[in-house]
Amino acid sequence: PQNVAVIGGGLAGSEVAFSLALSGHKVSLFEMKPNKYSPAHTSSDFAELVCSNSFRSADHTNAIGLLKLELKELNSLTMAVAEETKVPAGKALAVDRELFSKYITAILEQTPNLTIIREEVCHLDLNLAPLKGFDKVVLSTGPLSSEPITEALAKLTGQDSLYFYDAIAPIISAESVDRSIVFAGSRYNPEEEDYLNCPFTKEEYEVFYQALINGETVGAKDFEKEIHFEGCMPIEALAARGEKTLLFGTMKPVGFEDPRTGRRPFALLQLRPENRNKETYNLVGFQTKLLYKEQERIFRLVPGLANAEFIRHGSMHRNTYVNAPKTLNADLSLKANPKIHLAGQITGVEGYLESAANGLWLGFYLANNLSGKNLSPLPETSVLGSLMNHLQRETKNFQPSNVQYGLMPELHIKAKKKSRKELYAQRTREAFEEWLSTLPQ
Ligand code: FAD
Repeated sequence: PQNVAVIGGGLAGSEVAFSLALSGHKVSLFEMKPNKYSPAHTSSDFAELVCSNSFRSADHTNAIGLLKLELKELNSLTMAVAEETKVPAGKALAVDRELFSKYITAILEQTPNLTIIREEVCHLDLNLAPLKGFDKVVLSTGPLSSEPITEALAKLTGQDSLYFYDAIAPIISAESVDRSIVFAGSRYNPEEEDYLNCPFTKEEYEVFYQALINGETVGAKDFEKEIHFEGCMPIEALAARGEKTLLFGTMKPVGFEDPRTGRRPFALLQLRPENRNKETYNLVGFQTKLLYKEQERIFRLVPGLANAEFIRHGSMHRNTYVNAPKTLNADLSLKANPKIHLAGQITGVEGYLESAANGLWLGFYLANNLSGKNLSPLPETSVLGSLMNHLQRETKNFQPSNVQYGLMPELHIKAKKKSRKELYAQRTREAFEEWLSTLPQ
């Protein structure tokens, strides 16, 4: 067995450490909590979900749903524990965030060959304690890596770290929602009661919209560049594109009927339960850079939320990631030092499940590689393969990515949107199953 140090016990680090230890290698998992916390982490447990409690859709005709299948087939810790701790959320897989992290922590604490060390690692020099003596180091310190380790990485890769803002959505208490206005139901299905819906009239929307685009936001700091993903734009930035933009996206009313009027509302905000008991709700898609007091003033203009109690405000965070095609080999090791591998969001993947998937793949790869077994490359038509491939694709402007069919080779078949999704799904399943059948026993 080899000695491996894993730095950072988030979604990715937990997966790497668990799969390597299970395969018989000696793993030391370094985690700086509870001695030190990033601006978004608050619990001392492993694999903390810092924002939404959702692992997104479980529908097997889209990429994130199919990724769940692939991860299960590779014995993912994240998926196993998510199934154990899930809360109702329609077609999405959402979990009770506290239970989820507690389960993962308990499992890691009891895993043979795995030693947990509660310590911040501040350098990447394999000749110095605490990294001295390890055959391999895995760096999985995430989007909010501590400053010293970020500096060490920047030095090693020979380039400055890149930063941008993620904005997160506010959470409010269920009891503060006015249920005489807000109604339960999913899009097209009033029977499914997981989501709550706040219906707007045209006049209400106009008042809200004006307040939103004129709200005061937190400014960008000097050292941070402001770059947003399409999928994670602050609500006020999306709104600033035009009065109708939200009506076709985050606030689209299609598929809903306001039970009070029997008509489709002009606009609609969905609330998603944050925990099993449905005590708190997330304002879906309302990630924001508005000042806290502005969030309270403006979001209370949403029908049914006049008395909303804010359990957690929306906020903005740094993201740390490398330019993967430039700095990483295909096995996620640093070109500058192949004994050091990166895992998780720091490699340029985006999202809880993508980070876990990336970590799981590395654990699986290293477990085999360190035991002298070769793996055939993942097919790029599988979801995991397409995500890993994204990190190797040279582009002018490398950007982190979620999983999506857009990362895969085209189908080259003309078909309607629904059947295209099914065709992608079928191809994906076949490719992954075939790859699984090639694995060493
Ligand atoms: P993390 O889960 O962040 O784990 C990194 C771990 O490393 C932490 O436990 C940290 O304490 C530890 N650490 C850091 N530095 C050191 C050090 N020097 N020594 C030892 N330990 C260290 N994704 C979604 O899918 N949905 C969301 O709603 C969502 N919201 C987000 C909101 C915010 C504010 C942020 C920052 C990210 C969000 N993301 C979201 C992205 C998501 O957090 C990440 O994709 C995922 O948690 C990354 O997993 P990771 O394992 O790479 O890092």
